[in-house]
Amino acid sequence: MSVHVHWHRRDLRATDNHSLSAAAETGSVIPAFIFDPAVLEFASPPRVAFMLESLSELRAWYRERGGDLVVATGDPREELPRIAREHGAERVSWNRDYSGLASKRDEEVREALTDAGIEATSVDDALLFEPGSITTQQGETYAVYSYFWKKWRDREKESPVSAPDGEQLASVSGDSLPSQEALGFDDPEATIPDAGMEAARRRLETFCADPIYRYADQRDDPAADATSGLSPHLKWGTIGIRTVYEALDRAKSEAPDEAAADSCEEFESQLAWRAFYAHVLDTNPHTVTANYRSYENPIQWQTDAAALQAWKDGKTGYPIVDAGMRQLRAEAFMHNRLRMIVASFLTKDLMLDWREGYAWFREKLADHDTASDVGGWQWASGTGTDAQPYFRIFNPMTQGERHDPDAEYIRTYVPELADVPAETIHEWVALEPDERASVAPEYPDPIVDHAARREAALDMFEAARGDE
Ligand SMILES: Cc1cc2nc3c(=O)[nH]c(=O)nc-3n(C[C@H](O)[C@H](O)[C@H](O)COP(=O)(O)OP(=O)(O)OC[C@H]3O[C@@H](n4cnc5c(N)ncnc54)[C@H](O)[C@@H]3O)c2cc1C
Repeated sequence: MSVHVHWHRRDLRATDNHSLSAAAETGSVIPAFIFDPAVLEFASPPRVAFMLESLSELRAWYRERGGDLVVATGDPREELPRIAREHGAERVSWNRDYSGLASKRDEEVREALTDAGIEATSVDDALLFEPGSITTQQGETYAVYSYFWKKWRDREKESPVSAPDGEQLASVSGDSLPSQEALGFDDPEATIPDAGMEAARRRLETFCADPIYRYADQRDDPAADATSGLSPHLKWGTIGIRTVYEALDRAKSEAPDEAAADSCEEFESQLAWRAFYAHVLDTNPHTVTANYRSYENPIQWQTDAAALQAWKDGKTGYPIVDAGMRQLRAEAFMHNRLRMIVASFLTKDLMLDWREGYAWFREKLADHDTASDVGGWQWASGTGTDAQPYFRIFNPMTQGERHDPDAEYIRTYVPELADVPAETIHEWVALEPDERASVAPEYPDPIVDHAARREAALDMFEAARGDE
C-alpha cells in the first residue's frame, strides 16, 4: 500500500478535509504539521494559542485511531522531503491557501519535493468555490458583492467528504507539540474561544438548532450573542466549509416558516462574504497594504499616537467604541457590528490610516484572516471593493443607541459604566464635563468631537478625490 503524507496547515481537522480524505483513499496516511518560523513571524499570541489547542486535539484524534500527527519545526522545503523519505512516502499533498505569501511558499515546497523525487499535489478545500471560479462575463473577479453573491448562492454545493478511518492511518509516532513559550510567544491577554474540531462541531450544531432562525433579526444586536461564532474555526479549518453549508441547508429545509428560512439565507450570505473577500484578495494581493480603490491624491491620514493608543485601550470616551475594543482584548474576538463601528471611528473620527487598525486586529483576533480583515477594513474606510462611500460616516452615539439600546453590551465590557442608566450612556458625549465626572468619574471624556471630525474627514476624502 502506498504511503502518503498530508500536510496540515490552516485545516486543523480530520473530518471533511479534501486532501486528507483523498490521501486516505489511495493509501496509508501520515498527517504532518510543520512549525515554520517564516510563517510564525506573522503570528500573534491569540492565534498561536488557538492553533496549539486545535493541534493538540487533532493529535489526540489520530492517536485514538492508531495513527499520530508528525510534528516538525523548520523550513517545509526541507522538512517535508525529510519526513516523506523517513517514512517511505511517495506523495505529499495539502489543501491550498490562497493568500499571496502562502501561494509562493507552496510553489517552493512543490519544487523541493519534486527535486527529491516525491510527488506533490495540492487541492482546493477552504472555500466552496475556489478563487477564479466565480467571475464576471469578462472573466474578472467581481468588485461588487451582490453580483458575486447571486452566483455563489445559485451554484450547487459539494457535500462533506469522509474522514480517514484507523486502517487508513499509518502507524507512526509523532513528537510532542512545542509550548506557546517555546515558539516565542507570550500567553494571550484574552481568553481565547474554545478551539478544535469538537468545539466547532458543537457551535455549529447549537447555532443551527435554533439561533439561525433568529439570525436575520438579531445579528446586529451584539448583546444577543446571536451569531455563529464560527469565524476562528473557519480561519483555522477546525470545521470544513462543506459541513457548515450542509448544516445550514438542513436547517433551512426544516425551517418552521418563511421568515426562519430567510434568516438561514441571511447566514448563507455571510459565508459568501468570506468567499468574496478571498476571491478579491487572490486577484489583488497588493491590497494587503495598498488601497483597493484609487484616489486622485494620497489620502492625508493623520498621525496621533495618543489617539491610536486610546482606541486600542478602549478609552476613547465613546462607550460603544470602547466596549468593542475591550471585547477584542478580552476575548480575541469582536462582534461584526462593532468591527464596523470601531473601524469607522478609527478612520473617520480619528482620521488614522486603516492599516493601523488592521495591524491591531491582526495582533489581537483569534480569527484574523487576511482576506476578510483587509476586506472589512477597506470597506469601512472607504478604500475597498464595494466600499461604504466615504461620505457615509457612522455616528458612534447613534450606532450605540440603535444596536445596544439597553447598553447591555456596553456595560458588559465597560465596568466604569456598569451602574449608569442606558439613556445617560447614550448621551455621554453631550453631557457637560462635570456631569460626566459625577456620573462615572473613572470613564474618560470623549477624545474627539464627532461632528467636527466628520467635517474634517469629509474634507480629507474630498481632497484625496481631487474635489477641492
Ligand atoms: C474591520 C473588519 C475586520 C474583520 N476581520 C475579520 C477577520 O479577520 N476574520 C474573519 O473571519 N472575519 C472578519 N470580519 C468579518 C466579520 O466581522 C466576522 O467574520 C464575524 O464577526 C465573525 O463572527 P461570527 O463567526 O459569529 O459570524 P457570523 O455572523 O455567524 O457569520 C458566519 C461566518 O460568515 C463569515 N462572515 C460573516 N461576516 C463576514 C464579513 N463581513 N466578511 C467576511 N466574512 C464574514 C465568517 O466566516 C463568519 O464566521 C471583519 C469585519 C470587519 C468590519
